[in-house]
Amino acid sequence: SESVEQRLKQNLKEIFGFDNFRGEQEKIIKSVISGKNTFVIMPTGAGKSLCYQLPATVLEGTAIVISPLIALMKNQVDQLTAYGINAQFLNSTLNKSEMNRVKNDVISGVCKLLYIAPESLTKEDNLEFLKKAKISFVAVDEAHCISEWGHDFRPEYRKIKDIIENIDTALPIVALTATATPKVQLDIKKSLNMDDSVIFKTSFNRANLYYEVRPKQNAKKQLIKFVSQNRGKSGIVYCLSRKKVEEIAELLNVNGFKALPYHAGLDPEVRMKNQDAFLNENCDIVVATIAFGMGIDKPDVRFVVHYDAPKSLEGYYQETGRAGRDGIDGTCLMFYALDDITKLEKFNKDKNVTERDNAKALLMEMVAYSSLGVCRRRQLLSYFGEQMEKDCGFCDNCKKPTKTFKGKEEVELVIKT
Ligand code: ADP
Ligand code: MG
Repeated sequence: SESVEQRLKQNLKEIFGFDNFRGEQEKIIKSVISGKNTFVIMPTGAGKSLCYQLPATVLEGTAIVISPLIALMKNQVDQLTAYGINAQFLNSTLNKSEMNRVKNDVISGVCKLLYIAPESLTKEDNLEFLKKAKISFVAVDEAHCISEWGHDFRPEYRKIKDIIENIDTALPIVALTATATPKVQLDIKKSLNMDDSVIFKTSFNRANLYYEVRPKQNAKKQLIKFVSQNRGKSGIVYCLSRKKVEEIAELLNVNGFKALPYHAGLDPEVRMKNQDAFLNENCDIVVATIAFGMGIDKPDVRFVVHYDAPKSLEGYYQETGRAGRDGIDGTCLMFYALDDITKLEKFNKDKNVTERDNAKALLMEMVAYSSLGVCRRRQLLSYFGEQMEKDCGFCDNCKKPTKTFKGKEEVELVIKT
């Protein structure tokens, strides 16, 4: 009805400060409010959070938000608090009295969004408490974590459905992800038992990103050449190991670039400081492992370089997706060598058979992408279940359609090892 529409628009403006909904946000929000199971598949940066945050402000009771990372939860809770919304999180960092305050706010109904890590959700006393609360709906953010086929599988996510059913079988679910290949999509629907869900999927095409793969020969020289051509611009250089991150950051500094390292082995304070320096333009380049980037919203990243090949096309798409958020062109450059693939395969040695097979399948997609002379965007999008009518004209293979590699032979070579 009109009044719901007005109310949504009003909250959008008055609470979140946005003049208009973006893309399908309004339709999604209405679907959530109507109590339907809703499945949202949109690329990073599309604005998925609003699709559960706004409904939570309108509906009675508390929305439960399941999210995989404590840092992500904290960011969102801080932001919502600044907007004047009562949002809280429940995780292992809270002491007893903080925990009680959160629970009181939920039971009394003032808390509109309660963020929970899946491992806290399974705790017996939390479960008892949630049964007593009035819950509006459950949002499962980063829903691909539920799937073994995905690039970021978290076993605790598998238990979500049982727990929700235990709390209340009628609770509506909204699942959100930026990385759903058709296989992962099916897995999410099955695991959350939401075959009946309304699906909102927007294109994964990032038209302003230029994709390029260069054979890795003298990688250090190649990198210096590339960043010299992009001096003063913001960029991220992804490396496979912490050691490599340190080495490349140092290399860039020695060559007169303002670069800082970022990886999980650094002190949390140093990590935070380096990240802030990047966000505040006190450094141009962050050299990082994949630990860097989730939840980081810097609009003017102009290039993302993969110094080493990533483990999967999903990861690659996520990482390159951090370029050009402002809609202005961004370059996504990967240095590719078969040696790197062999290295990645060695990491999988200790995994069990299923995990190893999955990891290998993901890696093979990566090898094909890097080696084939086919339009890169066509390959990427087809991986996400989208067919392009014609080649993009904005990738290296479209610009110079000569094959850099004899793709097929390389693929076979790797499969045999
Ligand atoms: P996702 O989870 O899909 O990656 P986020 O929810 O983090 O995306 O949103 C990305 C950015 O878009 C955030 O900075 C957010 O404030 C902004 N945003 C979301 N919705 C709107 C809107 N309707 N108008 C303007 N900016 C928006
Ligand atoms: Mg998100």
